[in-house]
Amino acid sequence: MPVTIGALRESAPHETRVSLVPEVADKLAQTGARVLLEHGAGARANFPDALYKKVDWSDSPGSVLSTADVVLTVQPLSLDQIQQLKSGAVVIGFMQPHARKAEVKALRDRRITSFAVELIPRISRAQSMDALSSQAAIAGYKAVLIAASHLPKFFPMLTTAAGTIRPSQVLVIGAGVAGLQAIATARRLGAVVEAYDVRGATKEQVKSLGAKFVDTGVSAEGTGGYARELTAEEKAKQQEVLDSRIAAADAVITTASVPGRPAPKIISRAAVERMRPGSVVVDIAAEQGGNCELTRAGEVVEHNGVNIVGAVNLAADLAYNASEMYARNLLNFLKPAIEKGELKIDWNDEVFAQSCLTHEGTVKHEPTLKTLDS
Ligand code: NAD
Repeated sequence: MPVTIGALRESAPHETRVSLVPEVADKLAQTGARVLLEHGAGARANFPDALYKKVDWSDSPGSVLSTADVVLTVQPLSLDQIQQLKSGAVVIGFMQPHARKAEVKALRDRRITSFAVELIPRISRAQSMDALSSQAAIAGYKAVLIAASHLPKFFPMLTTAAGTIRPSQVLVIGAGVAGLQAIATARRLGAVVEAYDVRGATKEQVKSLGAKFVDTGVSAEGTGGYARELTAEEKAKQQEVLDSRIAAADAVITTASVPGRPAPKIISRAAVERMRPGSVVVDIAAEQGGNCELTRAGEVVEHNGVNIVGAVNLAADLAYNASEMYARNLLNFLKPAIEKGELKIDWNDEVFAQSCLTHEGTVKHEPTLKTLDS
């Protein structure tokens, strides 16, 4: 029997992306799999049903959930959706294992095999599957556009008959995937860009994009390419230097995060009060608590004339490209497990082994298991 791969119209509020775009759905169908979509699945990402050529359709999300052997999703499935899954089904998507404990337990108790794209190892071979990176790059790009549209100034320097306009100063805090894309985007718009990250390894990357690296004298290399949490003394030193750069900036884009922990607080109320009126902070880390003390997720807070944008789910603002990139990430992950239309997961493959969240009634991901009380 060929494996049935299903995708839903995402039900989370404000989620416009879709896990399967037409190009990818057709490629999956070419592997011999059956692809089953809920009507209107891609509509909000501007992929109308008519563009999907080789798929079957279902009128209700319930029948996709109860029929599919593999369910592809963007947002974590709700408790109700997990209850409707076919026994032994496989789910692949964002799972937010640190935040969604009840859902992780439900996946375990229903003996669902779930793969969290957040847990795909960041090895060279898996770069084409790296959904964290593809979606973060979009967020970095969009954050700069939001900053530019809030600012009562041009980004580029302009020489006009009415005199010369000075370029905007942009500070990017956190130079991971989102931060580097933010730097590149702000530079393309002509701003003068500075950037900071606790990982010294980012210094060369920042410079190669034409930005200046803010040197605070603090390094926080962690394991696996991620940052570690800083000590109180390191934080104070970092703060002193950063506060002066924040005060000088017209726009600050913050992207700093430490996996599995609340976002580090880097911009204090006092630092915002040193900024010029009309300046803007776009906080991409808003959903993890924010890098700015005044950030409120999903809101724009005005403080002494400074706008602090608590940006959430920015990738959904570019739903078309975000869905294309995400669906390709999923295809590259899933394709090696489909042989002549049938699902065969190679558990010796570290990509499958490490990204598995639940399987056969157990939570496979140790750090998540430790956070569960039962
Ligand atoms: P992330 O979203 O976890 O964090 C964003 C950035 O915030 C990171 O660069 C981090 O160092 C920085 N940060 C954390 N605390 C900070 C603080 N207090 N002040 C300033 N900055 C702070 O990171 P990410 O974008 O997912 O990337 C993390 C790393 O993984 C990077 O080195 C990236 O190059 C690497 N990576 C590797 C692969 C691969 O090899 N396949 C793919 C993607 C990313």
